[in-house]
Amino acid sequence: MQIVWFKRDLRLQDSRPLFESLKRCNIERFGVVLPIYIHEPSQIAHPDVSRQHQMFVRETLDELAEDLEAIGGRLVELCGEALEVFKRIHAQHKIAKVWSHRETTNQAGFTRDVAVRGFFSGQDIPFDETPQNGIARGAEVRQSFPDYFAETVRNHTVRDPRGVDLTARFATPPFHSVDPAEIPLAGGADKTYRARGGRKAAEALMQRFFQANTIFAYPKRLSSPNSAFDGCSRLSPYLAYGVISDVEIFQAVDRAVTDANGSMPKAAFHRFESAARFYLDRLAWRRDYMQTFEDQPDLEYKCMLPACDGLRPQTYDPELMARFVAGKTGFPFVDALMRCLRATGHVHMRGRATLASFATMNLFLPVFSGDQDGVARFLARQFIDWEPAVHFPILQLISGTTPFERMMVYNPIKAGFDHDPKGDFVRQWLPELSDLEGGAALQPELTSSHLSQEALSGGYEPYPSPIVDAKASARYAKDRIKRIQSGEPAKEAVPKTGSLVDQPSLF
Ligand SMILES: Cc1cc2nc3c(=O)[nH]c(=O)nc-3n(C[C@H](O)[C@H](O)[C@H](O)COP(=O)(O)OP(=O)(O)OC[C@H]3O[C@@H](n4cnc5c(N)ncnc54)[C@H](O)[C@@H]3O)c2cc1C
Repeated sequence: MQIVWFKRDLRLQDSRPLFESLKRCNIERFGVVLPIYIHEPSQIAHPDVSRQHQMFVRETLDELAEDLEAIGGRLVELCGEALEVFKRIHAQHKIAKVWSHRETTNQAGFTRDVAVRGFFSGQDIPFDETPQNGIARGAEVRQSFPDYFAETVRNHTVRDPRGVDLTARFATPPFHSVDPAEIPLAGGADKTYRARGGRKAAEALMQRFFQANTIFAYPKRLSSPNSAFDGCSRLSPYLAYGVISDVEIFQAVDRAVTDANGSMPKAAFHRFESAARFYLDRLAWRRDYMQTFEDQPDLEYKCMLPACDGLRPQTYDPELMARFVAGKTGFPFVDALMRCLRATGHVHMRGRATLASFATMNLFLPVFSGDQDGVARFLARQFIDWEPAVHFPILQLISGTTPFERMMVYNPIKAGFDHDPKGDFVRQWLPELSDLEGGAALQPELTSSHLSQEALSGGYEPYPSPIVDAKASARYAKDRIKRIQSGEPAKEAVPKTGSLVDQPSLF
């Protein structure tokens, strides 16, 4: 019996493990295919994981099981640590081969994979791990965007088994799925307005986004929270859980460009092409960050620039974090972003950068957790698209813990005027300020102690005064970081080449 082990690759489409295992079931006589998913208690209890992630996975698995059934397969869900689960299965039913995607993930996932690989190797069970997201491991060759796009992405055949009857190739499960009541629950609360899991939702978003007018408008709509929700693709959670592969998205953009060519005047086509390229750049950055994390997995725990370890005190005034988390810092734009994030599990990229900059620069909160929660872990639980290999490197860039001297400190008041000049987003999320007109809702001198009638009757407290002096706190952080970055150890640490270095601009 062959096993296809679904992890963060919850799809049938563009799945080499599934395709090859089904193909081999005749050729190499490895036997029929059993698709499994393992609910791992240690992963569920991980401090970066929250209930919203678990529910997103639940919805995705339900659809995956339906889609598998439609082609003749049965998904078996098991609960336990992966190593123990595989030991149990192998003791009772000989495993001939295991297939999965190779993951670039956090230390917990990596350690799990090493242990499982060791077991398979000791038992002579072939374990085929398909690389994904263009990520090279160890000595494998790293390709840059134009090369992999032209050589591998464009020529890659995306296979979709839907509509094919493959019943004879799938195993009749020799054991039952776990009773859902036995799966431990992740911490935190689910989010009512988060993205829903499942391939259908991902395909609907693809269809909505890959239209000429949406792509055209993308570069202009990306920066403001008022336009980014509809103006961006919102595909990140589906990429994070592998509901869709990045190659599928690369190809969708490529198709949109091909379709547009000839269907619009030349000048318009050039503008369209550059808007599409703008989007492709972001997908390429995702690969860049992931490759960086693959090469430096300790970015989950340590500063990229070692001299920055200890830069921010590990013990802090809990009031600072509590007010940041509650969206009550007294900076309306920051607080609106936080309340939006807590309700929906999503804010657009600039919004995330503003939040991360505010927490790590103005509040000078630690990136990593000690006895108290760090910014990275708190935000990981909030983002429905939490992807360790993107999250940790990007957070390090924003918090200035890298050797790169590009300092990204966002003025929390100016950011509001730049991206929400009329205060619409702020009023939407801060009922305390709902009766302030236009840009008045963005100015702490007008918002401090303010309480709209609507909020008063809703039991809210007056909106707070700023928790810190924005300019002085930013200057303090910048000075501290600059001093470290201009020191000798930092200069020596700057890599001369590499994915992050080659990026023309981060945002
Ligand atoms: C502090 C911080 C933490 C972040 N953590 C995560 C995370 O955990 N998971 C995650 O997927 N993204 C993360 N991002 C990157 C980015 O904010 C999200 O990918 C993006 O907002 C998702 O929305 P979208 O799908 O509508 O993006 P779109 O604008 O439609 O972009 C398309 C895709 O490109 C990728 N992408 C876009 N911008 C970036 C970027 N700056 N860096 C890397 N990839 C990008 C995403 O996969 C996205 O789905 C983080 C950004 C910041 C500033």
